[in-house]
Amino acid sequence: MTRNDATADRAEPDTVAEDGEVVTLAHGAGGEAMRELVDKLAVSRFGDAASDATEAAKPGAVGLPDLDDGSAHPLAAGDASIVLTTDSHVVSPPVFPGGDIGRLSVAGTVNDLAVMGATEPLALTCSLVVEAGTPTAELEEILESMREACEDAGVAITTGDTKVMGNGELDGPVINTTGIGAIDPEAVVTDAGLSPGDAIVVSGTVGDHGIALLSEREGFDFGGELKSDVAPVNDLVAAAVDAGRVTAMKDPTRGGLATTLNEMAEKAAVGIEIEERAIPVDDTIASAGEVLGIDPLSVANEGKVVLGVDPADDEAVLEAIRSHPLGSDAAIVGRATEENTGRVVLDTGFGRRYLSEPAGEALPRIC
Ligand code: MG
Repeated sequence: MTRNDATADRAEPDTVAEDGEVVTLAHGAGGEAMRELVDKLAVSRFGDAASDATEAAKPGAVGLPDLDDGSAHPLAAGDASIVLTTDSHVVSPPVFPGGDIGRLSVAGTVNDLAVMGATEPLALTCSLVVEAGTPTAELEEILESMREACEDAGVAITTGDTKVMGNGELDGPVINTTGIGAIDPEAVVTDAGLSPGDAIVVSGTVGDHGIALLSEREGFDFGGELKSDVAPVNDLVAAAVDAGRVTAMKDPTRGGLATTLNEMAEKAAVGIEIEERAIPVDDTIASAGEVLGIDPLSVANEGKVVLGVDPADDEAVLEAIRSHPLGSDAAIVGRATEENTGRVVLDTGFGRRYLSEPAGEALPRIC
């Protein structure tokens, strides 16, 4: 049986939902379609149990129904919360300008912990799935990248697993990392905490990862200047939260800044008004985006943070981020507002329009 036959067999009714729905690439894009699927498949089943174990019993907990970057579990003693997150990485190609799947799989998980407030991760796990025939030298390079990224983040991989699939059953390595942190319950920052007036801070140029990756995939040569921003940002986040009151945080990965801002606005029931000219975008990334027909605001970043900041502290937090080596391009790009609840308004300098989430399938295999 060929691989395509096997796929056709799997599409028989027992694996198709009753209404005939099947999983599409859009469900992996990080936007509305993915949230609906996760709601339908997972929150409906595990959401109540997660609430019983966390929210109902312990105020300050963050559970599955919150669909945040991770979950937070206050311990009985009340002096610490365990923060937990997990992420699988399937990026194609596995090596790209500025990084590879190894660096990505460490940064992705460290950053999800960091934007929950857990900037000093306790440990990471690494679960690796590869196919037979993968050169061990290739794996060694990826693992060496993971080691370097762990060093950057000040964390270690303490447990893991390796599975080997048959030759031809996988078209590249799949790496799952899970991360754990323990912090003061008061230090947990969700992505739902914006209030009207809060400054919206972006820690650097947007669109770098998505556009660098897509250029590589499509074989475009922009003079070797495009690079993914993939990096652990936990140290930068630590500097930011030390400098002032951060009310909400999220890393703008799949769906980019546009999706992240829409999610933050919707969850906090506020509007967000953004000034397009204030958003940092690298010139080369902007021109490559035009050639590729991709908006830098709508593609993944892997080394950036979006923060909501109390207006009394916005300049102090901005200054702290700008003083960090990964934050020199940081900017205040807008404010949370009472108007336009759940929406993001983009002021282009010529007029105002809604900034929506990218619809449907954005870019598959991007992280
Ligand atoms: Mg995240």
